[in-house]
Amino acid sequence: MEDLQSIIPEGYPADRPLIIAGPCSAETEEQVLCTARELADNGIRIFRAGIWKPRTKPGGFEGVGAPGLEWMKEVKETTGMLTATEVATKQHVEEALAAGIDILWIGARTSANPFAMQEIADTLKENNADVTVLVKNPVNPDLELWIGAMQRIYNAGIRKLGAIHRGFSTYGKHLYRNMPNWHIPIELRLRFPNLPIICDPSHIGGKRELIAPLCQEALDMGFNGLIIESHCDPDKAWSDASQQVTPEILNFILNTLVVRDSKQSTENLTLLRQQIDKVDNDLLEILSHRMRISREIGQYKKEHRMSVVQANRYNDVMRTRVKLGEEMGMSAEFMKTILLAIHDESVRQQIEVLNDRIKK
Ligand code: PEP
Ligand code: MN
Repeated sequence: MEDLQSIIPEGYPADRPLIIAGPCSAETEEQVLCTARELADNGIRIFRAGIWKPRTKPGGFEGVGAPGLEWMKEVKETTGMLTATEVATKQHVEEALAAGIDILWIGARTSANPFAMQEIADTLKENNADVTVLVKNPVNPDLELWIGAMQRIYNAGIRKLGAIHRGFSTYGKHLYRNMPNWHIPIELRLRFPNLPIICDPSHIGGKRELIAPLCQEALDMGFNGLIIESHCDPDKAWSDASQQVTPEILNFILNTLVVRDSKQSTENLTLLRQQIDKVDNDLLEILSHRMRISREIGQYKKEHRMSVVQANRYNDVMRTRVKLGEEMGMSAEFMKTILLAIHDESVRQQIEVLNDRIKK
């Protein structure tokens, strides 16, 4: 996937992250147009709305379907915004293309299914489609499956291709609706440096108050854009009500975000990294010094026929060091992990002394 083209629309400010916003679902003509107008008034240039909704259980609102595409056309005509919607089948792709939707995204339940992905890719190819396609990560944390889904779209001739990170499902109650597992999109960035990655804080967080911090985290990690759910009357939304914000709140959130300059000089960073290298070397020296002392203790214990681990001493060391570490701003959990690892290595070295395998 080396010859990808930019997904940034013409005239879009080059130094700003790409922002896509709009309701989870298109519900009524009035809701779509009112939300779109308010978003456009707040400077949003790309409007999202789900026309076909994949619901976990039957009986929920499954989207308005094709009539909603007419409302999307109206959004385009009256506000000048580009439009984006989710497609999951051949029929969705054909209808969305015929309605002039600019950006198609593929949902997390669909990108987990290679048959569905291939059907979508084949339909795009048959239609010689020249749209932007954004592929959400599959619901399960499987980077290869995500990449495979994007490769199918790429092989269908789509070059305006991007990824959306929307988090991964888990069982049970958690802070996030879908776990961010940031290392997965970061690994994707390392493997495909040209592939734009957009973050979906609404589906990761699942609640309004998590949107702002997640947006900032995503920008700090170098994501290229954000897709955020916004509704003119969020509490009354027919799907995902708890994670939608009004266009006004969205504007407030976007204005608080700090956009880092990736082209900034890295000189200061180089100096800081040199300091880290030096501190790491010092740490290694100190650790090796500590192990030397442990071996001397091992020798002493051997000569006095004492056992290697002495529980009182161990508890004492843990308690005092954890407390000290906390006073110095490190978490108790981190301190315990590190002390346990050091202790394990000390014990190993003392046992080797007992067995005469290491010369003191
Ligand atoms: C959505 O964007 O509204 C949606 C259904 O997303 P996901 O596929 O990430 O659940
Ligand atoms: Mn949603």
